[in-house]
Amino acid sequence: MRPQPLENRSTSTSIFRFHEGVVSLALQELSSKLVLCSRDMRTDIEFMELALEVARESAAAGEVPIGAILVHDHKMVARSGNRTIRDCDPTAHAEMVVLREASRVLGNYRLAGTTLYVTVEPCSMCAGAMIHARVPRLVYGCDDPKGGAVRSCFEIVQSPRLNHQVEVTSGILASECAAILQAFFVIRR
Ligand code: ZN
Repeated sequence: MRPQPLENRSTSTSIFRFHEGVVSLALQELSSKLVLCSRDMRTDIEFMELALEVARESAAAGEVPIGAILVHDHKMVARSGNRTIRDCDPTAHAEMVVLREASRVLGNYRLAGTTLYVTVEPCSMCAGAMIHARVPRLVYGCDDPKGGAVRSCFEIVQSPRLNHQVEVTSGILASECAAILQAFFVIRR
């Protein structure tokens, strides 16, 4: 067998290097995903699943399907969907209802050590209420491009002008959170 021409050998070496690079990139991506899928993230997903369950109950009651959960010391202290129609109350967004309920349960209008989980990016009213309640952390599912006050329309919860900022994690089960909203509005049209 004749020895391979030099240029072919260099091609096969570069193909090998290319594959090696792809494998190494894939491993890097996998390890970063493993880091992202930490215990905290699993907890966030579990609580967001509960918030989605509440959102589905809201839809069944004819309300816009948004669900919220308030967690204190890893325990759920309040859960609610939107109640604006049932309660004839424009302020009865899911987040407002859980903030009120959690304050009552914990006996404190300042909600230190809590995390608010909500399926959709909060509006300006709910973002403002979170600041007043000093909620330290917010986890939400999908963005609300028509009214979101975390980053879509306004950036209230992390504004340096205010005396409290909320740590935010977004995009948890985002497609599921958006899907139940879309399904609800498709039926209504
Ligand atoms: Zn709201």
